[in-house]
Amino acid sequence: MSFKSLGLSELLLKALQKKGYETPTPIQEKAIPKILEKKDILASAQTGTGKTAGFTLPMLQLLSMGQQYRKRPVRCLILTPTRELAAQVYEDVKTYSEFVDIRSTVIFGGVNAKPQIRTLRQGVDVLVATPGRLLDLHNQNELSLSKVEILVLDEADRMLDMGFLRDIRKILSLLPTRRQNLLFSATFSKEIKNLAGSFLHNPVLVEATPENTTAEKVNQIVYRLDKGKKTSLVIKLITEGNWSQVLIFTRTKHGANRLSQKLDQANISSAAIHGNKSQGARTKALAGFKAGNIRVLVATDIAARGLDIPLLPHVVNYELPNIPEDYVHRIGRTGRAGASGEAISLVSVDENEYVRAIEKLLNQKLQSEILEGFEPTETLKEVLDKKEENKANQNRGRSQRKPNTGRNNKSGGNNRRGGRR
Ligand code: AMP
Repeated sequence: MSFKSLGLSELLLKALQKKGYETPTPIQEKAIPKILEKKDILASAQTGTGKTAGFTLPMLQLLSMGQQYRKRPVRCLILTPTRELAAQVYEDVKTYSEFVDIRSTVIFGGVNAKPQIRTLRQGVDVLVATPGRLLDLHNQNELSLSKVEILVLDEADRMLDMGFLRDIRKILSLLPTRRQNLLFSATFSKEIKNLAGSFLHNPVLVEATPENTTAEKVNQIVYRLDKGKKTSLVIKLITEGNWSQVLIFTRTKHGANRLSQKLDQANISSAAIHGNKSQGARTKALAGFKAGNIRVLVATDIAARGLDIPLLPHVVNYELPNIPEDYVHRIGRTGRAGASGEAISLVSVDENEYVRAIEKLLNQKLQSEILEGFEPTETLKEVLDKKEENKANQNRGRSQRKPNTGRNNKSGGNNRRGGRR
């Protein structure tokens, strides 16, 4: 199957050729012709499946063939949950639109709005946005959504997880009722189905079968060990395996910082990215990682969302997520676009229930191993007792310090899922 046979125009094919893509991925094969037929789409696809090109290419073609306006109102709106994903989708839109007369831009919070407003005033055909900043600028009358012909909700499940449902509903109410809707989600909870049912019209279902992709392309291993041994095992795996690029997931921001410090002490260059890091710091860390200057990126789930790191060979779950779908997202970072990858989970006895939940979701048993020198010795009771003790110590420490006014909480209202990531 070629991109040409999917019905894409010469100018888009030229951009693809420049990028070096020859064969469409399964999601592209399925989605592109349907989107070109102006159908609504409900697609199950995680990052790494080629979904961005899957919706961007046909969208650009429809816009270039459609009615042109002198002032270039927004005709396609792409909503994403995070700034990083917004920036990456925008990069893709720019790449694929190089040879067509389509202008695009990206807006997200956490950075100065003025340059964004300036670009919007000049007129853009395609707007990539996170919900908060979009509504802000709309409230300030800096953009109009009344000419939107195509709406894309990217990583819709994550948007709901992050508490954006109300914002999405509000945005939907600002769009013309006649439009094409494309919804992409890695998982399909009841909430996603409800949302999809509320605004998609006779959608075509497109699946990239994440379970099969995961099982086939990613070698998943669980190492059982005591909590306190995790850092030394990570260091051993990286150094002995000579890993040059690894993404490690922790459950908390503090955990990410702590691990990053320990890695640096072991002469393994690393950077932590999480909700407390500024946009600049996150972009810098990601650029350093991509350029190979940083060997390890330690990330929390929300911060890592949508990171575009092709062909990542190793992903390590320093701690398992308590939401099994997050595991699927995490390991989707490896084994991308045809390459094989390895996802390693370090599991202490208190995380056994997470393993069970993941196995249930994947409908597959995870291969479990114990490494010499890292044999687990702790019982669940011992771990839980230790946790209680740590919590009590922290509380004692806190009550001896000044009361927390909450003014330093930079995570704002976007992360309504726990606030610790
Ligand atoms: P996505 O799922 O959109 O995040 O894309 C995952 C990665 O695959 C990105 O690095 C894309 O640039 C790349 N990609 C997308 N489509 C193709 C293709 N047809 N052939 C090879 N790589 C692709």
